[in-house]
Order: sequence, then structure tokens, then C-alpha cells
Amino acid sequence: MNYRISTRAAALAPSLTLAIDSKAKAMKADGIDVVGFGAGEPDFDTPQHIKDACAQALAAGFTKYTPAAGIPELRQAIADKHKRENGLNYKPSQIIASCGGKHACYNVILATCQEGDEVIIPAPYWLSYPEMVKLAAATPVILQTTDQTEFKVTPAQLRAAFTPKSRLFILNTPSNPTGSVYTPAEIKALTDLCIERGVLIMSDEIYEHLLYDGAVHQSAASFSPAHYEHTIIVHGFAKAWSMTGWRLGWCAAPEPIAKAIDAIQGHSTSNPTSFAQKGGVAALNGPQDHLRGWLGEFARRRSYAHQKLNAMPGITCLNAKGAFYLFPNISGTGLKSSEFCAKLLEQEKVAAVPGIAFGADDYVRLSYATGMANIEKGLERMERFVKGLKK
Ligand SMILES: *Cc1c(COP(=O)(O)O)cnc(C)c1O
Repeated sequence: MNYRISTRAAALAPSLTLAIDSKAKAMKADGIDVVGFGAGEPDFDTPQHIKDACAQALAAGFTKYTPAAGIPELRQAIADKHKRENGLNYKPSQIIASCGGKHACYNVILATCQEGDEVIIPAPYWLSYPEMVKLAAATPVILQTTDQTEFKVTPAQLRAAFTPKSRLFILNTPSNPTGSVYTPAEIKALTDLCIERGVLIMSDEIYEHLLYDGAVHQSAASFSPAHYEHTIIVHGFAKAWSMTGWRLGWCAAPEPIAKAIDAIQGHSTSNPTSFAQKGGVAALNGPQDHLRGWLGEFARRRSYAHQKLNAMPGITCLNAKGAFYLFPNISGTGLKSSEFCAKLLEQEKVAAVPGIAFGADDYVRLSYATGMANIEKGLERMERFVKGLKK
């Protein structure tokens, strides 16, 4: 049987982060003592009151279809969040709840991009963006950055990338994989240029709450009415509420775009899981004090890892100001990222994600969303590994 795979599907690169994570988990299941730095999810449990709200909804029989874009209560809670925290006025009809932030990104790209459109993506990028753009038959245009600019694109770089085909600019701050955080002034400078050129902005703000060293986040939609009109915010519950497995996220968009996404979702996934949505309402409307403890713990791990990494021969590492990743430069080891990670896993049983997955082959991504004891053990092994390379 010749199972012809569609051109679009065949062109996709499999998700390397998910692949590394499952390889590390399989090695662990085989009894191998693997230290995993691959995880793209917090190691903390979902706060109890959120789980309770979901369990109550399930027990009460809240198990049927909901409107495709989510229950009114959740869309209102999301609108309230944007009002309260970002000073943004969205009607619930402008909010679409989706099956995760990733799904929200895909919906936005499908609703706004088509063949012939170019989508500008700064690298290192979240690895799914270019693949989603390809699925929409549009063309990713990658803007390379390095640690020299804290992995941030400059206005000059963005200006030079615009063509008449430019349709969408994808901004992700705080960033996965680098942990970089654009300042409000930097966000404004870049998005001003997009507005001037009539280019839409997809602003992935899912790490909004995970900031260190006094860094601040300002939503790209919040600088002016024109910014609001040009921006689609993507967000979700996975990171700040540790709800990765719940598959719940959202976008906040100008009305016509929200309408289009509602239709796409209505014919593809329909609603995100009914009882998960009740958990989402509790997450947004309930207490947020879990975050303080998490941020303290993340900051402690980050400082330790940052210092350890910079003490390793051939490795330099910026101290990230957001998310829960460090993105060390490994070019001094003489290895490219895939070989580095393959050997590290093979020789020392440490899982890290090669930067090439994010469009940056001189770097690797280490997630510190794992216990301190693991971090100490893993970095000790990594140090032994790079010292072995130097001989
Ligand atoms: C984790 C993540 C998301 C969304 O993840 P979901 O689990 O689908 O909610 C979106 N963007 C970035 C950059 C992420 O790291």
C-alpha cells in the first residue's frame, strides 16, 4: 500500500523538544539515571483550588459540548484578566479559548496567513512557529539573532525584512527558548514599524508572569489604539498555572479575526474540554499566591545554573530574565548543537535540547523547571562532559 502523505504534512519537522523529552523518559523507564533538562513545563503541580474547580464540574456533570470558543464565564474571566493586568479592553466575543496556547497560535496563523504571505519570525524561535506557517502555506522569514543582542531583533533588522508580502510578525516575550525579555520601549519600537507597514503582530505572551531581576512585561497590544488593532495576543494556562496537560489557552484579537478563529475551531476541534474550562476560570479569578513561591524557586535555580554554566570551559551563558530556560552558547566546545546533545545524553545521561531545533545551532536549551538536586547533578555531569572534550 502506498500511503501518500500530503505535501504539507510531509514537509513538517517533528517536534524535537517532545522527541527528546520522550527519549529521556523512556531511558528513565528502563532504569537509567537520566537528568532531564528538556522539559518545557513547570515541575510544580497545578494549584489545588484549580483542580478542585475542575473536579467539581466533572462531578456535577459538566461534561457536554460548550460553545466552540469557550464558555461565556471563561471568556469573561480572560477579558477581565486583560483589563486588570494589561489595561486592555476586550469584549468576551474577542476572546477565543483553545486547546492550549499552541492551538491558539495555529488558529491565529491559519486565520490570517495564506499562500504568498510572509511571516517574520525572530530566531531563536519557538520551534512550532515556522511549521505552523508552512501548514498555512505561507512562508516563514527568519531573522537571526545571537547572544550579542540578548537574542533580540533590532528595529533596523526588522525594517530590512519587510517586503510587500509581509503579513505577520511573531513576537514572543519572555522568550522560549532564550528567556530573553524585550523592554516595553523595545516592543514599542518594533511594533511601531509593523503598524507603519500594515503588518499584523502575533504576540505570544504565555510567559508574561515569569520574570526575574525586576524585568517588566508590557503587552504589545497596549501601546496605542493602533497597536490594539494590529495585535493578536496568544496566551494560556500552561506555564504560570502549571496546566500543560489540561490543554487550555486563548487568544485575544480584533473582532473579525476572533470571528474567523471561532469558525475554524468550530469545524476542527470544537470547544476545549468543558471541565478544564472551569479550572481555567478558577485559575484566573482565584488567588495567584502560588506564583511567588514558584518564582523564588525558579530564580534560585536560574542563578545557580547560570553561574555553573559560565564556569565551564567553552561555554558562555546570558542570564535570562524570564521564562524557565537558559540558552548557553556552546560554540567554544567545537561542537554543533545536535552532536553536543547526542553525546551528552549518551555519555553522561543528561538530556538537553539542541539549539538547532530553535534555529540556533551554537546553543543548547536547558530548562530549569526541575528540582535543584537534579540541576546540581546534571550540571556536574555536563561539566565533566565539556572538560572531557577539551582534552
Ligand atoms: C508552552 C508554550 C506555548 C503554549 O503551550 P500550550 O501547552 O499549548 O498551552 C506557547 N508558546 C510558547 C512560546 C510556549 O513555550
